[in-house]
Amino acid sequence: MYSEKLELLIDGVWSAGSEGKGEDLINPATGEVLARLPHASVADLDRALEASDKGFKVWKAMTAQQRAVIMNKAADLIEARKNEIARTLTQENGKPLVEATGEVQFSADATRWYAEEGKRAYGRIVPARLPGVRQMVFKEPIGPVAAFAAWNFPASNVIRKIAGALGAGCSIILKPAEETPGTAVAFGRCFQEAGVPAGVINIVFGVPAEVSTHLLRSPITRKVSLTGSTAVGKILQKQAADTLKRCTMELGGHAPVIVHADADLEKTLDTIVAAKFRNAGQVCTSPTRFFVHESLYETFIDGFAARVSRIKIGNGLDEGVQMGPMIAARRLDVMDGLVADAKAKGAGVVTGGERLGNKGYFYAPTLLRDVPEDARIMSEEPFGPLAPTTRFSTFDEVIERANSLPYGLASFVFTRDMGLAQKTEMALDAGLVGVNHTMVSTPETPFGGVNESGYGSESGIEGLEAYMRTKFVTELG
Ligand code: NAD
Repeated sequence: MYSEKLELLIDGVWSAGSEGKGEDLINPATGEVLARLPHASVADLDRALEASDKGFKVWKAMTAQQRAVIMNKAADLIEARKNEIARTLTQENGKPLVEATGEVQFSADATRWYAEEGKRAYGRIVPARLPGVRQMVFKEPIGPVAAFAAWNFPASNVIRKIAGALGAGCSIILKPAEETPGTAVAFGRCFQEAGVPAGVINIVFGVPAEVSTHLLRSPITRKVSLTGSTAVGKILQKQAADTLKRCTMELGGHAPVIVHADADLEKTLDTIVAAKFRNAGQVCTSPTRFFVHESLYETFIDGFAARVSRIKIGNGLDEGVQMGPMIAARRLDVMDGLVADAKAKGAGVVTGGERLGNKGYFYAPTLLRDVPEDARIMSEEPFGPLAPTTRFSTFDEVIERANSLPYGLASFVFTRDMGLAQKTEMALDAGLVGVNHTMVSTPETPFGGVNESGYGSESGIEGLEAYMRTKFVTELG
């Protein structure tokens, strides 16, 4: 049973919205309706804007210590309800319960981290040029934030925004993804119960383009934070321009994986096969273009295929399941299209390449070999369980191919030679580089892309800085 009551949170009050509009929430593992999700009306959005303005003034006036007490309490509540929230997350997103539980734990940790880091939003004193003058640089919260998050990490995508904004002293209007609303609602309840003042966190749902257009048109919101596709990032950035709002853009990726000739192949395969099919490949940092040194290629393909055959696929709530469904039926057609195109251009399908069953939205983990550079999958983000592989022979060649796309989010390197690792790290045009492992996201380290994968970081001190502005004060006493 789906246990979260889906409501909007505006000015500290939970409601079903003023116009009774909404949509069904679907379980991607079964295709069944889980609940009805209310939509905010234009009047509701206006109330959320006013509330965020009022909430900002109250929250900003509190000390970082006072804010941290409330945030730490919220983190404790998230942790105490971890199993229940993870169940909600798996039901709406499909990922295995163990992954969902890890994500909720990350959210409690990130909330605590931002609560503490908010106490360290130091400014500085700058020596003056004139006698008697004191020059001070202050960091201030930027103002009410409009935030939009993708469905692939229903917990961590939203908590980075809530905790980042609140840790810095900002209020927030969050529009989580309509596909995965319950996790954000559960977090909202934790923060409310912990004592966050009315208006500091507002949560709305609706038709995404209508909600974002309305919230971005308003001069009240001073900052936009998006985790989503590059296409939507470009739209929101244009809309933010009219009122010169600051933006953080966490957008799409197409991560290259370079497997050098001296890599420890068994360990490399264990790591990358697990990383590729995590969340059914629906991860912005998912390893995507596999460039394997020609001397290892055939062994790599055999080892990859053997591991794929052992992946347990099913409903994320079932014991031992390692890969769940895709988020929606429309994504199955996208996978079929990318596979058909790769095949037509000469790639081989080693395993997978088809939908599994006819209930829920399952797609087989798919290994493609000898994929030519002009196949669509080599430049379009698949955001699914497809692994296109190809071989390379020289360092310069592989770097040129790895850096050839407009994206620049994650990238991965496998080698035993740390000199070669460093040379590769420095040459990659990406915001994140993982060497011999793929864990590129923690609460205390900056996470973000470059080029058309966006700009600005979440997590780490950069994540707090993103919600702050600078004020210079000079005093002649
Ligand atoms: P999306 O861009 O369609 O939606 C992201 C969010 O923006 C949702 O909440 C959506 O409702 C909202 N939105 C606001 N205005 C919108 C508009 N005008 N039109 C459509 N949506 C609007 O992204 P998606 O397909 O849900 O998510 C997958 C994408 O997110 C992938 O490209 C993935 O790489 C990216 N992503 C990036 C990161 C990162 O940190 N860089 C993390 C996770 C996902």
